[in-house]
Amino acid sequence: MILKTLNRLVIPGIFLLLASKSFSAPNAGDTLIKELVSLQRDTMITEVHMNSRTVNNAYTLSRKYAKANELHFAMIDSLMRVVSAYPLLDSPGIKYSQEFIGTPNMGLRRPNYVIIHHTATSNCSDALNEFTTAGGREASAHYVIDKDGTVYHMLNDLLRSHHAGDSKWGNTTDLNSSSIGIELVNNGSQPFTQEQINSLVMLLGRLKTTYKIPASNFIGHGDIAPTRKVDPNHRFPWKYLSENGFGLWWDDTTSVQVPENFDYLMALRIIGYDISSPSSAVAAFKRHFMGDNSGGNMNADVRRIIYSLYRKFQ
Ligand SMILES: [Zn+2]
Repeated sequence: MILKTLNRLVIPGIFLLLASKSFSAPNAGDTLIKELVSLQRDTMITEVHMNSRTVNNAYTLSRKYAKANELHFAMIDSLMRVVSAYPLLDSPGIKYSQEFIGTPNMGLRRPNYVIIHHTATSNCSDALNEFTTAGGREASAHYVIDKDGTVYHMLNDLLRSHHAGDSKWGNTTDLNSSSIGIELVNNGSQPFTQEQINSLVMLLGRLKTTYKIPASNFIGHGDIAPTRKVDPNHRFPWKYLSENGFGLWWDDTTSVQVPENFDYLMALRIIGYDISSPSSAVAAFKRHFMGDNSGGNMNADVRRIIYSLYRKFQ
């Protein structure tokens, strides 16, 4: 009965939108998805009943966040319908075949980066409240790790969370589309707890294995958005993580001779940093690789460490 009601509401909506979008600009697919999602969020939310959901039986459905859970599952339904709505006929001038031939050779796109954050609040429920609030910033994360090591898995790894915002690493933009976001509860300046780091390392191990994520692709929000973000803070144990296979690290620099013509900014660019604001890129590097929160000033030590790390990317 519920499904029938859903179909009545949603399926005509999809075809209406498909019809109205049949000949629009390139990237209409993205716009269409956004419209479908917002349309269905409005129309479906009252129709979804949590009791009909099968959730891993290790979980109970939160009463406190029941409304957010309802919306979450409505969004999943919407996205399933969006995926099923292809193929599109959305670009004027393209000579589409009249016949649809679907390929069975496919899979879901895999995340290839993990982005570490701090919540900037020392209270886990503040973060959970924000990530379960629709409207406003609409921020989220795949995982939140509380100070006692409890892991909240808020979104399937294969779906796109809104955790990174405007971001760039190497030539990859929109890291939200290719990454998993992990938030550690931390007020922005305090040390991370051993329980958090233990949980994080176990979680990263699973993610790295499951999705074959390269060691170099475990990075921080401050690395991919150096002009806007400083998380995780300079106390985050990146060296320890690198020793466990998550993120790269530099070798002993005692005997390193940096060539006179060494271009440290180009080296930061090769490592992955957006160098459009050089001092922000240097500050981000120092925070991550030196535990140094002093900003974007250069000196011989920083230069030597950039050189040492950069050679791992050659
Ligand atoms: Zn962040």
